[in-house]
Amino acid sequence: MTSAPGPALFELLAAELPAAIELRHDLHRNAEVSGGEAATAAIVAAALGAPDAAVIAGTGRLIRIGPSLGPAVAIRAELDALPIAEETGAPWSSLTGAMHACGHDVHLAALTAVGRAARQVELPVALLAVLQPREEAPPSGAQDIAADASFTAQRPAAMIGVHLQHQFPAGTVAAAPGTVNAATDDFEITVTGTGGHAGYPHLAADPVLALCQSVVALQQLVSRRVDPVHGAVVSVGTLRAGTAANVIPPTAMASGTIRTLAGGDREFLRAAVAQTVADTCRASGCEGAVAITRGEPMLVNDPGLTAACQPLLRAAGFSVDTEFRSCGADDFSYYSAVVPTLMLFAGSGTPVSLHHPRFLPSDDAVGQVATAMLAGYLAAARSLAET
Ligand SMILES: [Zn+2]
Repeated sequence: MTSAPGPALFELLAAELPAAIELRHDLHRNAEVSGGEAATAAIVAAALGAPDAAVIAGTGRLIRIGPSLGPAVAIRAELDALPIAEETGAPWSSLTGAMHACGHDVHLAALTAVGRAARQVELPVALLAVLQPREEAPPSGAQDIAADASFTAQRPAAMIGVHLQHQFPAGTVAAAPGTVNAATDDFEITVTGTGGHAGYPHLAADPVLALCQSVVALQQLVSRRVDPVHGAVVSVGTLRAGTAANVIPPTAMASGTIRTLAGGDREFLRAAVAQTVADTCRASGCEGAVAITRGEPMLVNDPGLTAACQPLLRAAGFSVDTEFRSCGADDFSYYSAVVPTLMLFAGSGTPVSLHHPRFLPSDDAVGQVATAMLAGYLAAARSLAET
């Protein structure tokens, strides 16, 4: 075991940032969507000094730095961009029609800087850089990597993720223990009635009215049936019905999402959404069916790892928020099932929302995310040394 590498690593990290910022511009300009991130992965793997790193989960890469034996602390960065037409006006705007509107270009550049700094010291515990595909679109890249034998063969003992968050100013990092992102289930409603002439509604069974009443009824589930201190969401995002103003259509459809932060609420709301739609539609002489697609589980921050990281974040100069949790979702949650995880949220320094065509954190975000990643690594490495 070498002496504490912490301060030296932070200095080495600072020296890596100019090159990492150049890399960020390059990745941003050549953004690739989910499942098609092969070039992005190859560029980052080469920058991390491992151009021949094993491919995992289609386009992902695992790059181990430091001791080849023993446990590793994994750090995840996502490879994919979104199918969004960029409107930032940045000189290095995307040339591909896809856009890094979720900050994954920043995360990748930050992880590269951390990895390159880590190669210059004798690490106490291996660092496993996880370049993960398909965070933004199913099938989840995290789910595939978490289940892959080549990942578990690296003996990950802790896993760190850092995501930009527009609700915080630059210089703030959220590190809250417990559940920090919601479990997510999407649903599709199909209401079947009897179509007919809009002037003769008594001869039809109107699925449009039944669907609208169902959407309203669903809003009572969280407000009246879920413990108000838990936090949950049922949102309907799409409605589809009909082709003409004077025709009652035979069917009407909607889709939405269920978000839950407490374990029992997930199964309750899945069943309650289906029952509420079926019963509401029956009252209108229609039939309501709900198909639910199971999504990400809750993202849980390991309490010990979180507590170990908070003072390191403060020592690195961050203002630390210890409360932040949201009904957003990130497939980083799939790693929680196989390894203690810590997801940190770093202020993006721009009020423009993630996934917006004008989302453009400054280049300073690369250093902030990298510093938070390094704090997470050191917290995990020290916790492992103590056990
Ligand atoms: Zn993201």
